[in-house]
Amino acid sequence: MDHQARLISLQGVLNQNRLDALLVSHLPNVRYLCGFTGSAGALLLTEKAAVFFTDGRYTTQARAEVRGARVVITRKASLAAAAEWIASRPGRVVSKGRCRLGVEGQYLSLEDCLQLASTVGSDFRVRPAPALVEEARTIKDSEEIERIRAAAVLAGSLFERILKVLRRGTTEAEVAAEVEYAARTAGAEGMSFSTIIVSGERSALPHGRPGNNPIQSNGFVVCDFGVILSGYCSDRTRTVYVGRPTREARRVYQAVREAQQAAIESVRPGRTAGEVDRVARKVLQGHGLGKYFTHSTGHGVGLEIHEAPRIAAGQSEVLQSGMVITVEPGVYLPGKWGVRIEDMVLVTEQGREVLAPSSTELIAV
Ligand code: ZN
Ligand code: ZN
Repeated sequence: MDHQARLISLQGVLNQNRLDALLVSHLPNVRYLCGFTGSAGALLLTEKAAVFFTDGRYTTQARAEVRGARVVITRKASLAAAAEWIASRPGRVVSKGRCRLGVEGQYLSLEDCLQLASTVGSDFRVRPAPALVEEARTIKDSEEIERIRAAAVLAGSLFERILKVLRRGTTEAEVAAEVEYAARTAGAEGMSFSTIIVSGERSALPHGRPGNNPIQSNGFVVCDFGVILSGYCSDRTRTVYVGRPTREARRVYQAVREAQQAAIESVRPGRTAGEVDRVARKVLQGHGLGKYFTHSTGHGVGLEIHEAPRIAAGQSEVLQSGMVITVEPGVYLPGKWGVRIEDMVLVTEQGREVLAPSSTELIAV
């Protein structure tokens, strides 16, 4: 991955975003820009300088991983060290006037911000920076796409494992544990989020947690899971029926499947995220199920499980080749059950490609 190029391109847009310096503290952004994968560090950028701060636990790792930035090992917290470094060199950043220091306001606590402002002093104006790194991260390069694809393939194989263990009488927690064990033994660094295996009435909770209740027959089980592989996340949902599906269960399942298919087919460069959401919603409305689709259609995936763009109503962000998004409509009938089907979709020049595609036909166990 060309970290140097990422840094240079960000340094090149600081001025047009009315910033003299940018302090990057959100670790996925730090990793994206300079390659550091540890759990403490901050990257300070000016038009000419890139300096990475971390503590003594990461001396060896930082020297091995960080590309394109100078490494400073500090005894203090990385943020405080970065603030002191810039405060002692205002002339290196701007020759005269106050320096505009951008911070990632959505990730910093109020205390961090106040502390930072007091350390850098009155020569600096600390202000929230626009989401420049998040925006750059939406377009994946070929190496990122291969990593995401590999993570998606692994998630696909985990569903096979689920089908082997999910039966009436097994608990949701047991199925989740199997999935996570299989993921780790297959090489995953971890799960990209806490595995969701929810059955029966609880499958109507879009983000329920697996419980110790045995799975009952005559209901759906929503299985939503993903892994982290080489730093990149995957995300997939399949919903299976335990027992003999009723007519209503079949009807709702097919409606969700149709909505997902239509939304996937609508993905192409130039479409807005809101349009893809609308396609999924319209199909479910046509089946009289619109009001039971209670969340957005999808989200970007990469170094983080939820990142830009949001595939939701009214989102004007335009899809571009290289984006990776999920398409995951769902229908949740309170007190009864829920159905969700989710795949990861790469936006390509020609349209789209479902990553590690697999059947979405209704499976009953
Ligand atoms: Zn998911
Ligand atoms: Zn998702």
